[in-house]
Amino acid sequence: MFTTLLHTVLNEGINKRLALKILEESRWPQNALELFAVASRLRDENLGKELYFSAGFGGVLPCRIVPRCAYCTYFVAEPFPLPDLLACVRKVEELGIRQMHLSGGSNLEGYDSEILEMVQAIQETSDIQVEVNLGPSLSADTVKALKTMKVVSITSSLETFTPELFNRTKPGDSLEKRKQLLEICEQEGVPIRSMMMIGLGEKYADRIEQLFYLSRFSHLYHLRFSRFYPYPRTALHNQLRCSPWELARTLAVARLIMPRINLGLAAGNEPDDLPLWYAAGGGNQLLGVMVSNRKVENKTNPEDELIIINERCSVYNRMPLMQRYLQEMGASVISKEKIQ
Ligand code: SF4
Repeated sequence: MFTTLLHTVLNEGINKRLALKILEESRWPQNALELFAVASRLRDENLGKELYFSAGFGGVLPCRIVPRCAYCTYFVAEPFPLPDLLACVRKVEELGIRQMHLSGGSNLEGYDSEILEMVQAIQETSDIQVEVNLGPSLSADTVKALKTMKVVSITSSLETFTPELFNRTKPGDSLEKRKQLLEICEQEGVPIRSMMMIGLGEKYADRIEQLFYLSRFSHLYHLRFSRFYPYPRTALHNQLRCSPWELARTLAVARLIMPRINLGLAAGNEPDDLPLWYAAGGGNQLLGVMVSNRKVENKTNPEDELIIINERCSVYNRMPLMQRYLQEMGASVISKEKIQ
């Protein structure tokens, strides 16, 4: 029965009804394994078998969203000092990374001049490729300017597509502004990156609505999946942690809907989630290095490399562990240069 469902999708195309049925029925492992096999084949056929690393620079600007999102611990109060940021870019390049993103916080009043100055400063000293993720903080003119500066993508993360859930968990934020930014990027022909949080309180049907909404953007190039974690001292600290099974099956259904899009892992996931992600059709970009302007004192795994740039910032390299996990599964991880 489940096999027939997958054949129907492959031969006749997918719609919301079939996608929802597949998501529901894949809760049983024997069905999920069939789904994962199809999703992985689609990834290999459309994106190739090779994976590549990028780096994430978190908290580059203070988050002005008030009140804070109910699950968030990522916000910072001060901007990433530019000289520190440039020192981290140099270190990231030394590690062989050719693509990075600048991430957070958000400002409904706009972070237009701030991000343009930051990208310009990076481009004056480096040829690393830059992606931008500042929530709904960019005007149409800034999107145009970033396009002229040849940024790889602009992110607008909806996290959840359900207005009630968005307003409850992101009461200081604007779903409409985030959707508007997607529309602007689409109109301007700028590659779009988005994120979706699994386990925030949405229903299966909500996930399917969000996936189909995103799939209509012809410039969507990367969709990342966060797995809800109830961090202490957040408003949602009593909510249940999301299972990796939920994320993997949703990602595999996303692969059926959008076979050519990068499907990645975001907040709430760890390197130990990589095997299931890969088996479920995830690929092909990996976040291998994280840069922080907060003090990171300990490694979470002995194979990781913690590089202290100075007392304010550090570079955390998880590539050796991630590369080993993936190579043990027969996947190959290459540098970005080789696929361009
Ligand atoms: S927009 Fe929300 S999730 Fe993002 S940094 Fe601000 S409070 Fe956190």
